[in-house]
Amino acid sequence: MPFKRSVYERSIYQEPAPIRDSDDPFQSMVERFDVAAEILELDPGFYEYLITPAHVHITAVPVEMDDGRVKMYEGIRVIHNEVLGPSKGGIRFAPDVSVDEVKALAAWMTWKCAVVGVPFGGAKGGVRCNPKAMSPKEVERLTRRYTANLIDVFGPDKDIPAPDMNTNAQIMAWVLDTYSMHSRRTENAVVTGKPVLLGGSVGRREATGRGVMTVTLSAMERLGMRADESTVAVQGFGNVGSVAAQLLSEQGCKIVAVSDVTGGYYNADGLDVQAMIEYTEANNGSLEGYSEAQVITNDELLALDVDVLIPAAKEDQITKKNAGNVKARIIAEGANGPTTPAADDILNEQGTLVIPDILANAGGVTVSYFEWVQDRQGYFWTLDRVNRRLDRAMREAFDNVFEASEQYDVSLRIGAYVLGIDKVATALQMRGIYG
Ligand code: NAD
Repeated sequence: MPFKRSVYERSIYQEPAPIRDSDDPFQSMVERFDVAAEILELDPGFYEYLITPAHVHITAVPVEMDDGRVKMYEGIRVIHNEVLGPSKGGIRFAPDVSVDEVKALAAWMTWKCAVVGVPFGGAKGGVRCNPKAMSPKEVERLTRRYTANLIDVFGPDKDIPAPDMNTNAQIMAWVLDTYSMHSRRTENAVVTGKPVLLGGSVGRREATGRGVMTVTLSAMERLGMRADESTVAVQGFGNVGSVAAQLLSEQGCKIVAVSDVTGGYYNADGLDVQAMIEYTEANNGSLEGYSEAQVITNDELLALDVDVLIPAAKEDQITKKNAGNVKARIIAEGANGPTTPAADDILNEQGTLVIPDILANAGGVTVSYFEWVQDRQGYFWTLDRVNRRLDRAMREAFDNVFEASEQYDVSLRIGAYVLGIDKVATALQMRGIYG
């Protein structure tokens, strides 16, 4: 490999960092990166380049509330890396969004795009706010001002946002409209995950959950498990979790538990996922009060005796405290960063197959890429074409990661990091360092 370590005076990753179990997702990313960098014998200069975010934007977002008061919010956009192409990554609205979290999520986007062969770099954005306590008009004003503040950052050839936690197609429509008003023409390729009527792709809303299903089935195949004999528990019942649950139940799996921020819902005979989706649609997105199941805690859900566990809510859910309780044979990480590095060690030890986030939830960015291609061509694909190409991309990525993990005798997570980092480092070597 052309980028092998050339300067040997000090390897940054020679002294392993202490294994952490913290809520610092950027540190979690770096710990996994270090192991992969060691395997790749990455040049120390390249190491520094590849863990350092290219741009970190922090912007004050003033919003006039419905009652006339002005409130200030913190808006963040991190572009981690642009070596493979324009940067790509979602925007999340949440009360606990932090720069470190967004930096980690942006880096994961870089490796994720590389793992699934999407020609984008990595980015992520967030606004520290509680959208559930805001009116739709307040959320719209927040979205538009955040977009306007970052107008020179975003662009179809520069940086392309998408939905993430607590953001959706409507919010992407406001990003599209605000950007288009400033550029005096409709720029639908500036954002993905938007409504189909505005240039969105069919299948994008379901893409992340569909990708989770595809890699779960691939993993089952490798372990000789049958979908129609397998039980599944899903933490998080939003865009990713609800679709993954529904599609896996269509494949014959028995979904015995799901949860959201209000708690867990369990039925040993299998839940009616479609009925639960309809319930949340009529109940402001929440499962609270759902009565056709036994109520359990989120911790109990993670420890259920199931074949497959799908964390699809948020970071740091499986930690050194509860990893030993996990009984599932397969964990498919729908969420970004749900497992801490210390938990990884415990899971590897007990033989749990973890399909890592940068592979398992890459279906979303894959169809976002398809959406961007369609917008730029002004020619839109059928759902069948989108799903076939998505399924192929996810199956190939799973096989590549599986083979890398066997080749280097490492977990799937480290195998995925090795593949992703190798690709970006090779591209960086080809482009060279400008200046
Ligand atoms: P969402 O807002 O649609 O849903 C999040 C769900 O998690 C909700 O049901 C919420 O109630 C639940 N939740 C929140 N905190 C919880 C807790 N402590 N315990 C249990 N449940 C909790 O978000 P989403 O788009 O489904 O994203 C979920 C995860 O998937 C995030 O980590 C996100 O970064 C990741 N992801 C999303 C996409 C995508 O296309 N939407 C793509 C890749 C990765």
